[in-house]
Amino acid sequence: MPICGVLGWPVRHSRSPAMHEAGYAALGLDDWRYQLLPVPPELFEETVRGLPGAGFAGANVTIPHKQAALALADEATDAARAIGAANTLTFRDGRIHADNTDAPGLLDALPFDPAGRSAVVLGAGGSARAVVWALVQAGAEVQVWNRTHARAERLCAEIGGRAVDAPPAAADLLVNTTSVGLHGEDPFKALPLRVDAMDGYPCLVDLVYGSRPTALTSAARDAGATVVDGLEILVRQGARSFQRWTGRAAPLDVLRAAARSDAAPA
Ligand code: NAP
Repeated sequence: MPICGVLGWPVRHSRSPAMHEAGYAALGLDDWRYQLLPVPPELFEETVRGLPGAGFAGANVTIPHKQAALALADEATDAARAIGAANTLTFRDGRIHADNTDAPGLLDALPFDPAGRSAVVLGAGGSARAVVWALVQAGAEVQVWNRTHARAERLCAEIGGRAVDAPPAAADLLVNTTSVGLHGEDPFKALPLRVDAMDGYPCLVDLVYGSRPTALTSAARDAGATVVDGLEILVRQGARSFQRWTGRAAPLDVLRAAARSDAAPA
């Protein structure tokens, strides 16, 4: 019985078990299982090293373990190394392989090829690293704004893109990688955006997700933008991990329905 899971601390609110288990059921992968793996940082490495022996084929990794996951891996993709973090571990032939599916998952979710397009990324934390790397590699012109400017400068020096004091008023793509909106904060107070100027961004990606649309996604929709919300980003990174472990293309609509189901933990 192959088992997969999600390592995090805390992780009880994760929607990944619902998504992956629904995907297994839809494809008739009846002996596959996916479970929550709540692991504190001090037990992370020994827990991960014990997983293959316990029947695990792989694991997703979330806050706060993504950097530690890369550090303990025997091998890693170029994406994981460049981003400095892994969200997907695969156990095979006694080795631990690390990948980062947040980056290609973002590109999968975009409604257009970002090559040659302008993109504004708000934030310079962990998720921004994957977003900026993905967009730069795909050939977009990326400008990065962060509340703490020095952090944006460091990110761009390592990964690419240009750190800016103020984002341009118009760009093909706006990506919010800050946590603003997670607890209902007003994005038009915390971020350098004006609600009456959202029509400058025809496409918005907001990584933040919850049980309701964020104020930022609502304002962008009202301005006529194409919106990719945080649950779609979650689905797309999960779909990449699913395919890596099972060798089968993930049934996206099934994963989507499970991620959005009210039955899934918030
Ligand atoms: P992180 O590493 O802690 O970075 C947080 C970012 O938010 C930093 O750029 C920080 O700026 C900024 N920030 C926080 N509070 C702010 C405020 N009041 N005003 C302006 N900027 C503020 O977090 P992360 O791991 O990148 O995650 C960020 C968000 O993305 C979270 O809501 C997370 O749930 C979400 N996320 C979603 C997915 C998905 O699959 N949809 C995946 C990953 C993350 P400073 O540098 O100035 O502190």
